[in-house]
Amino acid sequence: MDDLTKWVENAFYNLTDNIGQRMAGTNNNELAEKVLSNYIKDVTGTVEKFRFEITRWVPKQWKIEVDGVEYKSLLLGFSPSGSASSDPVYVYRASKYEFDSGDVDGKIAVAVRGGDLRCEQKYQNIAESGAVGFVQVMDIPNGILRAEKIASNKIGPIPAVEITYEDGMRLIRKIEKNRSVNVSIKTVIEGGREEVSNIIGGDIDRSPIILTAHYDSWFNTPGAFDNASGVISVLSAAKISKLNSIAVILFNAEEFGLLGSKSYSQKKAYELSEKLILNLDVCACKNSVLYTLQTNSRRLAKAAVKAADQAGLEIVVTSKLSHHSDHWPFAKEGVKVGFLFQNSCNIHTHTPYDTPEKVSVKSIIRTAKFTSKIIENFINKTSPSH
Ligand SMILES: [Zn+2]
Repeated sequence: MDDLTKWVENAFYNLTDNIGQRMAGTNNNELAEKVLSNYIKDVTGTVEKFRFEITRWVPKQWKIEVDGVEYKSLLLGFSPSGSASSDPVYVYRASKYEFDSGDVDGKIAVAVRGGDLRCEQKYQNIAESGAVGFVQVMDIPNGILRAEKIASNKIGPIPAVEITYEDGMRLIRKIEKNRSVNVSIKTVIEGGREEVSNIIGGDIDRSPIILTAHYDSWFNTPGAFDNASGVISVLSAAKISKLNSIAVILFNAEEFGLLGSKSYSQKKAYELSEKLILNLDVCACKNSVLYTLQTNSRRLAKAAVKAADQAGLEIVVTSKLSHHSDHWPFAKEGVKVGFLFQNSCNIHTHTPYDTPEKVSVKSIIRTAKFTSKIIENFINKTSPSH
């Protein structure tokens, strides 16, 4: 096994197997910050932290009772601490034309999961109509509960829980038979502001290209594709790059709404106006050599197409930029960016199944070599314009 393979294997499994879940603000996230600080220093020669604040809420207790009987439940991630007690109103899938706000005002609304609206949107619709509580009924049977989030940076105005399909159908039947029913909900969450870090390596001022990837994960997953694959690819690319200075930023709190890249771009975007941000997120598919590059730089597009050609990889280049990863806050400020990812292997992202055996060390090295080739082509291009 060559040195690079050993290094990649070690770093990748350290992040996914040993540390695992790396949600911003957790102890694991702090541990990942320490470990990655060592790697980034090893690769670029320097390490610096960019500190910023996030708000993180974690559920502590929740309970729903129907006529005094407790139902199995999960707290929905946008629920604040609170309590509510009233007769319930069934609002179907809670789109605005499915109920009259007058009927919901002051009541606990019961809606079924699924359909066209995300549960945040349903919650917002019923909260805006004056409801005092929100009960979401799971749309899959067999007692399964699957709250979208168990921790969140944003919370709403009224307590919200999810109940099983079976309990939900029982409750809805009671409501529809016009029996008098009492529902009470009580929720407790804890949390508040805390400081977390982006990790910076290399000389940002002197490097024309900054490689970026987010190192935090969703709450319930070791985040192998999303985004240990990007982090290790970026570090490996910097490691094998022939340039003497490559700058790297590992962003935090991407999963809470790009908080790390937003706070960095707010302070630094003007200093980056002549540079290129190349962001990697979900990019080491085992069984696919098809990459997508979204970019507002024609020079980068050309460099990438050439690199794919040289490496025998396939690439689709588009100028439409996704708003869902860390390149976006910079693009919005007029900075040249590229977003490199692989589509075919992100089916498990944000689930417990985003596990390391679904990514291979080989595919990370392939992505790293590809990235370093792209950089090389980009720099060697004689034209000074982007
Ligand atoms: Zn991601």
